[in-house]
Amino acid sequence: MFCFQCEQTAKGTGCTGACGVCGKQCDTADFQDELTGAMAALARVCREKGAPEGVFDLFKEGLFVTVTNVNFDNDSIRREAAKVREQTEKLAPGTKDYDMKRLWSADEDIRSLKSLILFGLRGMAAYAYHAKMLGYSDEKVDRFFAEGLAAVADESTAAASVDEVDQSDISSKPASAVRIKLGLQLRAPHFFERTSF
Ligand code: SF4
Repeated sequence: MFCFQCEQTAKGTGCTGACGVCGKQCDTADFQDELTGAMAALARVCREKGAPEGVFDLFKEGLFVTVTNVNFDNDSIRREAAKVREQTEKLAPGTKDYDMKRLWSADEDIRSLKSLILFGLRGMAAYAYHAKMLGYSDEKVDRFFAEGLAAVADESTAAASVDEVDQSDISSKPASAVRIKLGLQLRAPHFFERTSF
């Protein structure tokens, strides 16, 4: 397992081995990764083919399930992944999950940037899921879940974003400006012109 999504993470770098500091077992962490990889693959399919009704709820549920220690029930995590794959299969038969090991073993800048996006999406999903339970939703927010998940699995987007950060003088700007710049890079026209969520 590899998990470094919370401040309890082992040695400040990542929980590995049989279980995490929070008690999450390695198989649970792996199932959470599989669910995330399945969602990223579905998001990429939706980017090409459009998002059918109900798909955003799948993303909200799946992202919420993978937040830190929200759900350690392997069967329920696997059921979520099965629902996601079923939807993907309907849209693009034969599509494979995104392999999260690619992210965890990527260049540290890319890994950091994509993780920032992914963990942010998970946090957003916690609020969006509860809002949905109260009868509220926002299409713009829903679509951003799909955009963000597709970006996590998009190698060219991450590389382009890191290049742009490297070329800018972000050290002289306040943290808020850096956050805005990262957000803008994720919405870079060269990538988002071809989206069709
Ligand atoms: S959620 Fe658990 S396994 Fe993941 S970094 Fe935090 S303590 Fe470690």
